[in-house]
Amino acid sequence: MRLVTVGVAGSLPGPSSPASCYLVQASDGERDWSVVLDLGSGSLGPLQRHVDPLDLDALALSHLHPDHCSDLSGLYVYLRYHPERGVHRTGAARELPVHGPSTTRERAAAMYGLDPGETMDAEYAFRTWDPAAPVQVGPLRLEPFAVNHPVEAYGIRVTGPSSQRPGETVTLVFSGDTDACANLVEAARGADLLLCEAAFVEGRDDGVRDIHLTGRRAGRVAAEAGAGRLLLTHLTAWTDPQVPLAEARGEFDGPVELAVADGVHLL
Ligand SMILES: [Zn+2]
Ligand SMILES: [Zn+2]
Repeated sequence: MRLVTVGVAGSLPGPSSPASCYLVQASDGERDWSVVLDLGSGSLGPLQRHVDPLDLDALALSHLHPDHCSDLSGLYVYLRYHPERGVHRTGAARELPVHGPSTTRERAAAMYGLDPGETMDAEYAFRTWDPAAPVQVGPLRLEPFAVNHPVEAYGIRVTGPSSQRPGETVTLVFSGDTDACANLVEAARGADLLLCEAAFVEGRDDGVRDIHLTGRRAGRVAAEAGAGRLLLTHLTAWTDPQVPLAEARGEFDGPVELAVADGVHLL
C-alpha cells in the first residue's frame, strides 16, 4: 500500500499545502488501484501530479466540511468535460463511486450550482457510508467508523496488501476530523499507520471540545490503540507545527511525523 499525502492543511488551504486529500494505492497483481480519501479545497490540482483523475477507482469522503470535499466541483468538470474521455464527449456514464455522508449527493449538486432537477449521477455514483458495511475497492478494504465532530463524520480504516512485505496485509487508519472518541481508538487498534488530525493545541483551544484533537490527544489515541506509527495532519495555518508534534511525542513512544504536502509513505 502506498499513501500520498496530497493535501494536509487543516480547516482551509495553507501556504504550503491544499486542504485534506490522501491518495491510497495498492496493486492486486494485475493493476494498481487508486482511492482518494477526501478532496478538500485546492487538492484536485496537485492530485493530478500523482494520478489522472479519470483513473480513480473510488472517492471516500470523511465528511462534508469544505476543507474535505469542495473539489468535488472541479472533479465533476474533469469527469464531464475531458475532451477525450469525458461523459459529455463519450456519452457513456462514468459513475465514479463516491462514498460519503448521507447528504453528499445533494451537497455536491448545490456546491456546483446545478439547476433543480439536474444531477451528477452520470459522473458520480454516490453511496452513503454504513459502518456495518465495509467497501471493497480492488485489493483495498474501506471500513468507515463514526467519529466525534459537529456534523455527520467518519474516520476510515483501510486494509490492503503491503508493498514492503509481500504477502502481508497492512492497515492505515485515517481519523477524519474528530475529537477523542472510543470508535477512533477501536478502529486504530493495531494499525500500521495512524493518519490523525491534530488541529487544536493544548492550552490555546481547551474551551472547545468535540470538534478536533490536539497533538497530545492524538498521541494518546496512538498509544491506547497500539498503533505502529503516527502521522499528524490537518494542522491549521496559524499553528506552529512543532507544538502538536511535541505534544504527540510526549504521549506516544512510537515514531511520530508531521504529514507534508506530496509526502509519500510506503506501508
Ligand atoms: Zn477539517
Ligand atoms: Zn470538519
